Amino acid sequence: MKDFVYNGQPSRVVFGAGSLAHLEREIEILGARRALVLCTHEQQGQAQMVAERLGARAAGIFARAVMHVPIETAREARDEARRLGADCAVAIGGGSTTGLGKAISLESGLPILAIPTTYAGSEMTPIYGITESGLKKTGKDARVLPRTVIYDPELTLTLPVSLSVTSGLNAIAHAAEGLYARDGNPVMSLMAEEGIRALARALPAIRQRSGDVDARADALYGAWLCGTVLGSVGMALHHKLCHTLGGSFNLPHAEVHTVVLPQAIAFNSQTEPGAISRIERALGSAEPCSAAAGLFDLARDNGAPVALRDLGMKETDLDRAADLAVNSPYWNPRKAGPAQRGEIRQLLQNAFDGIRPE
Ligand code: NAD
Repeated sequence: MKDFVYNGQPSRVVFGAGSLAHLEREIEILGARRALVLCTHEQQGQAQMVAERLGARAAGIFARAVMHVPIETAREARDEARRLGADCAVAIGGGSTTGLGKAISLESGLPILAIPTTYAGSEMTPIYGITESGLKKTGKDARVLPRTVIYDPELTLTLPVSLSVTSGLNAIAHAAEGLYARDGNPVMSLMAEEGIRALARALPAIRQRSGDVDARADALYGAWLCGTVLGSVGMALHHKLCHTLGGSFNLPHAEVHTVVLPQAIAFNSQTEPGAISRIERALGSAEPCSAAAGLFDLARDNGAPVALRDLGMKETDLDRAADLAVNSPYWNPRKAGPAQRGEIRQLLQNAFDGIRPE
C-alpha cells in the first residue's frame, strides 16, 4: 500500500426522506438566529417552504443564484446578508446555489447549511468559484465548507430526469478521478467505488420511475460519497477539460461532464489499471465492457447526451480547446501537456462526435 495523508472534512450530514423536518434543530445546533435563504429563481417555491419552516429565524430569501456565481450577484447577496443582519446562509438547490453561499461565506465567515437538490456535490467541498469579467476563479478555503448538510431525497423528486442523469454522471466523474488521484487514500477509494455503484444503480431506476423515493435516496447517497471524494483529493484531466469547455465555450456543466467522462477515462485507462477495474466493478455492466464504454453506455442508455456537438459546441473550436487544455499545467496520471496535444485533440474530437470508447 502506498503512503497517504487522510484529512477528514468537518461537516455534519443529516440524511433521509423527510429530513428537512430537522431544519430547525440543525439551525439551532449551528447557533444561528437569522438565516438568509438562497435559491435560484426556479426554486423559489422550495425556498419559501424552507423560510416558512424557519419562521422567525428566517431573515429573508435571496432568489438570484445563477450558474458560475458572477461577482455582481455575490456582492448583491453579501450586501443583502449584511443589511438583514443574517448570521447564517441556508442554500437550497444545486451547485450554483451552494456556490453563492460559499461566496458569501468567503467574505463574511457566515456558516452555511446546505440542502442539495442535485448530485453536483459542492456541499461537501471547501472549493469555491467566482466569475469576474468572464473568468471563473476557483480556490479552496475551509471557511466555505458547509457546516451542515441536509440530504432529503424528497426534495430531488422535481429534478427533471435528464438533469438527474447528467448530474449523476457529474458526481460519478468526481469519484472516477478520485480513484487515481495523486493524493488519494484507501478511505476515499472506498467511498468513490461505493458512490459510483450507488449512482450506476440509481440512474436507470430514476429514468424508469422518476418519483421513486428509494431510487432518489440511492442517487443522493452516491452524490454525497462522490462529493466527499471531490472535496478531499485532487482531480485530473477530466475536470480540467470540463472546466475549459464550460468556462471558455459556455457549455452546460453537468452535460459536459457526462460527454467528456468516458473519453477522459479511456485516455487514462492504460496508466491506471487498478482504478479502472474498480470503476468497472462498481458499474457492474450486464455485458463485460471497459470502464470507459460502461460510462458511455450509462449516459446513452438513460437518454443523456454523449456528443459535444449536441451541446452546441462548434467543431471549429476544438483546436482552441485543445490548446487551452494542454497549455496550462494540470496533474494527470498520464502526461497531457503540450507534447500530447495531438492525443488531447483526438480525445476532444471523439467527445465531439460521441464515439463509444473501446
Ligand atoms: P445548478 O445548481 O446550476 O442547477 C441547474 C438548474 O436546476 C437550476 O435552474 C436549478 O434551480 C434547478 N434545480 C436544481 N435542483 C432542482 C430540483 N430538485 N428540482 C427542480 N429544479 C432543480 O446545477 P448543478 O449542476 O447542481 O451545479 C453546477 C454548478 O455547480 C457549476 O457552476 C459548477 O461549477 C458548480 N460546482 C461546484 C462544485 C464545488 O465543489 N465548488 C462542485 C460541483 C459543481
